[in-house]
Amino acid sequence: MRVIINRNLCGHPPFACEKCFGEFLRHGAYPDRSCIFDVIDDGSEQVTAVITSGNVTRELVITDEIREEVIYDGYLKFADFPLEALEVQPPHGEDIRRIIREYEEQKRKAAD
Ligand SMILES: [Zn+2]
Repeated sequence: MRVIINRNLCGHPPFACEKCFGEFLRHGAYPDRSCIFDVIDDGSEQVTAVITSGNVTRELVITDEIREEVIYDGYLKFADFPLEALEVQPPHGEDIRRIIREYEEQKRKAAD
């Protein structure tokens, strides 16, 4: 499955987002957290995290080798983001609506 994460939606500091995702991995929770906002079944058992922070997007395949480290230490050390991309601001309502709208559009296009 692909887990779609957009840190611009929560504006939390990196460690908070990493902790959320760690809990998601451990419990397979439903994506009801502020920056984990979609899960797409791609037919694979393996989790691929698609992480957007600032205007940078990275994909991280959570292999068995790194799974525990991702849960307890966070995904960022594996994801190679430039530092400035990690400094996200708490979003306004209109930002959140725009991000979700753009995502839905992109998803619709990909499905066509
Ligand atoms: Zn977050």
